[in-house]
Amino acid sequence: MSWRGERTKVSWANLGDAYEGIKIELDEAYHRVMESGRFILDAEVRSFERAFSDYCDVRHCVGVGNGLDALHLALRAFDIGQGDEVLVPSNTFVATWLAVTYSGAIPVPVEPDIRTYNMDPALLEGALSKRTRAIIPVDLYGQPADADLIGEVAREHDLVVIGDAAQSHGASFRGRKTGSFYDAECFSFYPIKNMGAAGDAGAVTTNNTEIDEKLRMLRNYGSKKKYEHQILGFNSRLDELQAAFLRIKLNHIDEWNKRRGELAKLYTRLIEEVLKDSSPVVLPFILQEAVSAWHLYVVRVSGRQRVQDRLRQQGIETLVHYPIPPHLQPSYADLGYTAGSLPVAELISKEILSIPLHESMSEEQVEYVAKALVKSLP
Ligand SMILES: *Cc1c(COP(=O)(O)O)cnc(C)c1O
Repeated sequence: MSWRGERTKVSWANLGDAYEGIKIELDEAYHRVMESGRFILDAEVRSFERAFSDYCDVRHCVGVGNGLDALHLALRAFDIGQGDEVLVPSNTFVATWLAVTYSGAIPVPVEPDIRTYNMDPALLEGALSKRTRAIIPVDLYGQPADADLIGEVAREHDLVVIGDAAQSHGASFRGRKTGSFYDAECFSFYPIKNMGAAGDAGAVTTNNTEIDEKLRMLRNYGSKKKYEHQILGFNSRLDELQAAFLRIKLNHIDEWNKRRGELAKLYTRLIEEVLKDSSPVVLPFILQEAVSAWHLYVVRVSGRQRVQDRLRQQGIETLVHYPIPPHLQPSYADLGYTAGSLPVAELISKEILSIPLHESMSEEQVEYVAKALVKSLP
């Protein structure tokens, strides 16, 4: 795929522009860290952890190496592993499932609400067994899952909830920020997330002081004091350089999310204006209680390949999040699912299409894409 081909009019992401906007601040942070000669678990990480936990309105934040490790270490911090089952969405990025697998537990899929694409809380009880220990709701495409309904089921059945907020930095549900809903919540700062590092990075937030302490050990060889190892740990630390960059990006995330939200609204208005009710395209649906971070603008169309080809011919890059649900991935063949096992996830995977949405897009680009999309529909 050509990411910045000559004919590209609207590219999927534009990390170059994102750098230009805050170049002075980032360069200053780079020089500060390089000159300090301190690269691992020092002042920059502490400063970012404090700032991010304040931002999420939660007591603790632990910086780790990436989003997958955030989920994996959080599960381990709650002693979830061998013999346990963890409820996960059937339509998520494979990392949500992999974290469960790494912990030794078994991922048990729950189908989504077809309107929001988030785990359907009404289906949770039907998926429980005597072995169920935890739920991992994902805030897919930037919209928080229904934290209240999920929390109710968890309390009733004494389950741990670990949120996957890799796509929802700065989103909220009933006025509360992501990162503050559940027993722990996990973030990814992969470069193209709403708040991205210059490489891999992640974090876990929690109000639980014991879990915070355990996560600090788990990310650093199971050690609290150098060369003393209380538990079997890992090496998954947030780098000082990444923490310094993220600390700066945190100052801008609200303004970037706001811009994403405005552009998303513009997409919806422009597409609805043309198509009215008899629509061959399903647009994003956001719950009244939710403020989405608009990580992605995902529509559903039939004949997706043709739509995607036509958009490409007009210089518009699109992606699919995600074309194959985890249960149909070769890597999960041994769980025994087949085509038809999880029909909602499978239907969604065939029809969804993510059109470009990032904060450095112009209104003109949104208009261009909206027009091209409408004309490309079957
Ligand atoms: C990006 C992402 C992850 C994994 O994050 P990494 O930093 O790439 O490990 C996990 N879950 C979801 C929903 C994601 O989008």
